[in-house]
Amino acid sequence: MGQTIEVTCPKCNKMFVAHPHMLNSGMDFHCPYCDLYFPEKESPKIRK
Ligand SMILES: [Zn+2]
Repeated sequence: MGQTIEVTCPKCNKMFVAHPHMLNSGMDFHCPYCDLYFPEKESPKIRK
């Protein structure tokens, strides 16, 4: 595992980087492209 993870947005399908500590934290990810907040389980793909 590196210093970042790559998260795919379930709404616009763009990929952005996030911190690994976001995983299993219960915090929502924030897509910088479409401004959507979503939980980890709603992402179609997370590359760790
Ligand atoms: Zn998005």
